[in-house]
Amino acid sequence: MELKSLPQDMQAVADHHGHVCFGVLLGYKACKYAVDIIGESENITVVAESQGCGNDAIRVLLNCNEDNGKLTVKNTRKPSWSFYNRDDDEGVTLTINPVMQSQLPKDREQAMHSILEMPNHLLFKVEPYAG
Ligand SMILES: [Zn+2]
Repeated sequence: MELKSLPQDMQAVADHHGHVCFGVLLGYKACKYAVDIIGESENITVVAESQGCGNDAIRVLLNCNEDNGKLTVKNTRKPSWSFYNRDDDEGVTLTINPVMQSQLPKDREQAMHSILEMPNHLLFKVEPYAG
């Protein structure tokens, strides 16, 4: 699966992850959106509600992982991530919008492009997160 013209930071995620897939694209978009909302910081911690590809985007883009204690991976299978900025005491939970998935093109590659280009507020439901 080759996607042409990936954003440079998404390419780095794909290289780390080993392939481009829906999970990793959604993780990438979630990181971008979270940073838009809570701001960039060295002190972001993340709680992932499910295991899976998207967490690799968080490991690469935000340097949050299990080893440095900034990433907690649960296994509730909820399609959501919570991001918490300890500097600003601000957090957000992003849940993948299920409606979005039904609106994607049938073609897998086109669907991936749609995810990359889709405005974040259509991809995710946003809720405050208290950390
Ligand atoms: Zn994957």
